[in-house]
Amino acid sequence: MNLIIFGPPGAGKGTQAALIQEKYGLKQLSTGDMLRAEVSSGSDLGQHLKTTMDKGELVSDDTIIEIIAGCIARPDCEKGFILDGFPRTVAQAEALDNMLSHMKRQIDHVLVLEVDEDALVDRILGRAAETGGARSDDNAETLKKRLRVYHNQTAPVLPYYAGRGVMRGIDGMRSIDEVQTEIDALLGNARAA
Ligand code: AMP
Repeated sequence: MNLIIFGPPGAGKGTQAALIQEKYGLKQLSTGDMLRAEVSSGSDLGQHLKTTMDKGELVSDDTIIEIIAGCIARPDCEKGFILDGFPRTVAQAEALDNMLSHMKRQIDHVLVLEVDEDALVDRILGRAAETGGARSDDNAETLKKRLRVYHNQTAPVLPYYAGRGVMRGIDGMRSIDEVQTEIDALLGNARAA
């Protein structure tokens, strides 16, 4: 089973993807985490990525597509994977389809976490306060840009999947447990079917 967990910054994608990984043995592929690891490594590429990420902009499609292509071919993705933070543009979604069709695989579910914009701002600024600003893009100004980028470049990915019967909207305003229960019901049924 291969999943995409989709939603704006602060919707809870990473939290839910980690829970799904634990419960279903699917591999969580978080592009944001991978990019932050590259930044932490101090490489030249990491320096370049940090400049883009700190501005709240998207890293180039070519870079991110190459990273994902490497990941989904690995043995730890054989049982399935959860894409967390990818695809973020229609070009990424098209590239993903190409890769999957070569591998004779497909996306089974696109879980779309829906959260009001005011709540996103509260959550991200709350996360910044709790972690002592661990993520340099978790601040009010960069967040505004990240939300704009989400609306302009990432939300158009939704119509791309709309006609396939794989998309499921999930009310992400509820508690972590409640959201998890809804996702569980959906995936549990899919697994039993
Ligand atoms: P995230 O942790 O998913 O919020 O991602 C943090 C930042 O990493 C984003 O604001 C982008 O700069 C970059 N990023 C993560 N995933 C992607 C992607 N699929 N395409 C382009 N940039 C990405």
